[in-house]
Amino acid sequence: MTRLVLLGPPGAGKGTQAQRLSERLGVPAVSTGDIFRSNVAQGTELGREAQSYMEAGEYVPDSVTNRMVADRLTQDDCSGGFLLDGYPRTAAQVAELDRVLAADGHRLDAVLELVVADTEEVVSRLRKRAITEGRSDDTEDVIRRRLEVYAEQTAPLTDLYRERGLLVQVDGTGDVDEVTRRILTALDERTA
Ligand code: AMP
Repeated sequence: MTRLVLLGPPGAGKGTQAQRLSERLGVPAVSTGDIFRSNVAQGTELGREAQSYMEAGEYVPDSVTNRMVADRLTQDDCSGGFLLDGYPRTAAQVAELDRVLAADGHRLDAVLELVVADTEEVVSRLRKRAITEGRSDDTEDVIRRRLEVYAEQTAPLTDLYRERGLLVQVDGTGDVDEVTRRILTALDERTA
């Protein structure tokens, strides 16, 4: 179970769980949001390309995102596996990920969806994060837009991965440790 994708709306806890699972599973967590944010902070060309989209709660264009992920996944530390947090988010990104993996004879092991059905729960988590982390894309309007974009472009990917037999849905509500346990149990059950 080393090539994994974490799906779920903004505020579902993907970043937190990705860090924990990365330690437990011994594979790097690759967060496209983190990579974009660090490029924005460093003022790189990639950061300049991404910034306006991020601040508006829109997706960075697939061409930009796909190039970045293809570069990242072909680095040495990803050769034994990885945990993708925040990618793929569009059908074009799914196709690109398939292509990058197939080029090395690999495929995904599972797609974990963190399910938080109550929209107000994720909005409240994102509001808190706006205060603790000072993220510019966690303002009220941007939060609503990010959730809309997720529903339009990313939620449909769960059906696609379900059809491929890869989808593992885990309840993302409640205690953080408990969610980690649920994920590890669900992964164990898949490999058993
Ligand atoms: P995140 O921290 O994963 O919620 O990502 C923050 C922002 O980075 C998103 O709202 C998008 O603007 C951008 N971003 C991150 N991952 C992707 C992706 N896979 N495709 C397009 N844009 C992305």
